[in-house]
Amino acid sequence: MRRLPVYFLLDVSESMIGQPLRQLEAGMEQIVRSLRTDPQALESVYLSVIAFAGKADLIVPLIDVVSFYPPRLPVGSGTALGAALNCLMDNIEKEVVKTTAERRGDWKPVVFLMTDGRPTDNTDEVIKRWRTEFANRAQLVAITLGDRADSTLLAELTDDVLCLEGNDGKTFKQFIDWISASVTATSYLVESNPGSGISLAKKPTGLTLVKDFPVHTSSAVDESVVVLTGRCQKSKRPYLIKYNRSDDVGFGGQEFELEGAFPVEESFFAWSVNDHNRVQVNTEHLIGCPPCPHCGNGTAFAMCSCGGLLCTDGAAPYLCPWCNLEGMFSEGDGGDFDVTRGMG
Ligand SMILES: [Zn+2]
Ligand SMILES: [Zn+2]
Repeated sequence: MRRLPVYFLLDVSESMIGQPLRQLEAGMEQIVRSLRTDPQALESVYLSVIAFAGKADLIVPLIDVVSFYPPRLPVGSGTALGAALNCLMDNIEKEVVKTTAERRGDWKPVVFLMTDGRPTDNTDEVIKRWRTEFANRAQLVAITLGDRADSTLLAELTDDVLCLEGNDGKTFKQFIDWISASVTATSYLVESNPGSGISLAKKPTGLTLVKDFPVHTSSAVDESVVVLTGRCQKSKRPYLIKYNRSDDVGFGGQEFELEGAFPVEESFFAWSVNDHNRVQVNTEHLIGCPPCPHCGNGTAFAMCSCGGLLCTDGAAPYLCPWCNLEGMFSEGDGGDFDVTRGMG
């Protein structure tokens, strides 16, 4: 049986923390469940997952749908799309069997690239590599989640750029159903017509083909979310605090409303890009202050003199989980201050 390799290139940058990341994990489970119900897909479809934030890495090497186990996705700071595409191309080179005079190789691989941001690494060489060596050998479907993604850049990679509008659960589920159905249909189609790929004709209404619309270029700085990194004073474990752009603009500028604080693993730092020129944001623009997601301390939003964010239960002595210095929070410490933003 010739294999139909399907690669998922998933953006796990910190702006995805919370609902988008949970949706993506649940989506992968839904796709596998669906593919397992179809005899043809069960036989021929092979899945692989590559994740990218500040770094990119192979999470699941190409494997049949029965053996595929939906991975828990990491999260990090940054959007290394260039590194992700290189990782993809290296793995296609390594894993996908080419057709030769002696043997029939795998079917043309299908790649679903899902991203919610703009790349933080250089993509020029990578795009050139994709276009010259892979564009004919694989089908790439790029899907932007939300309105921050750089669809102009994605359009240089492929004609198949789709925008997923809105992030309600129903639209996302339709989108995932469409992926499952498209992959299943392709696994049948290639048998009679080897050049077949994913058809965009039957995409759900929540998906917009980018070339049908004038491309809206958003500002270079990511202004739709603010993500901050903190550590729990008690457990020392990291967490992210996420704010979304509010519809109101305050006196001092754009305001952001709290979505929540989310525990993350220590691997967050390994998945993050090291950038010493991080942008600062003043707390006067941030509305809402969450409790610590690890220990329940009243606020996850206190700052040590080293600049690190930590949790605290009000005016009390503290031991900074970032720099190990002891300090004291007093009642008067409630004023606004600058904090360092993540890369989005
Ligand atoms: Zn805590
Ligand atoms: Zn400190």
